[in-house]
Amino acid sequence: MQKKIDKEKVMQKKLLRRKKRRQKLLIQLVILLVLMAGSFYFGYRMGGTKPVYTGEILLVNSENTLSDDYVPEGLVNLYEVRHSFRLASSDIYMTYEAYQAMEDMFAQAEAENVNGFIITSGYRSYDRQKEIYQESEPGYAQMPGASEHQTGLAFDVTAQNSGEGFESTAQYAWLRKNAHKYGFIQRYPSNKSHITGISYEPWHYRYVGTEAATIIYKNNLTLEEFLD
Ligand SMILES: [Zn+2]
Repeated sequence: MQKKIDKEKVMQKKLLRRKKRRQKLLIQLVILLVLMAGSFYFGYRMGGTKPVYTGEILLVNSENTLSDDYVPEGLVNLYEVRHSFRLASSDIYMTYEAYQAMEDMFAQAEAENVNGFIITSGYRSYDRQKEIYQESEPGYAQMPGASEHQTGLAFDVTAQNSGEGFESTAQYAWLRKNAHKYGFIQRYPSNKSHITGISYEPWHYRYVGTEAATIIYKNNLTLEEFLD
């Protein structure tokens, strides 16, 4: 009789332990889920949920304009986040995705002893472009809505030592050779202005993702030709 009770007690203890273990696991699982949901939400708020460029590629030119209320999601002020390149002012914005690619790209350039890149322009609002357009001589600025800078995916760059113009610098040569590996293309090449509608701009780079950028670079295309 005593033995039987003992056995039962042992069984009960076992069951209790199992129950406790299950409860502990459940609590751990709940904590994990809350943490995951929290980091996802925070990442989303920061515009950082897309580690790779997966969206459709935006084509912006005088025939494909953006509306006056188009503002890209996830803009970040480069002044607050960037490490591997310099800025001409403290209020240059890019989308988070494009910024991350810039960071990787310029860090690699630095690792290869090519530094001194200075970003002079990034995101430009429709209204800002309108001001620029109104202040410029005819034919010198893009019409509001027709500037790629409104996408938050394009930047203008120069180099510290660009006395003879950016095109003659080591920084330009490095970008020309490597930008596609980070998803950037030289958007307005010298011999393609009849297609892009824009004369040669050695300083203007556009983020399209590594896949498209590599095809465009290797086949010497413009974005218009690539998307055609
Ligand atoms: Zn530009």
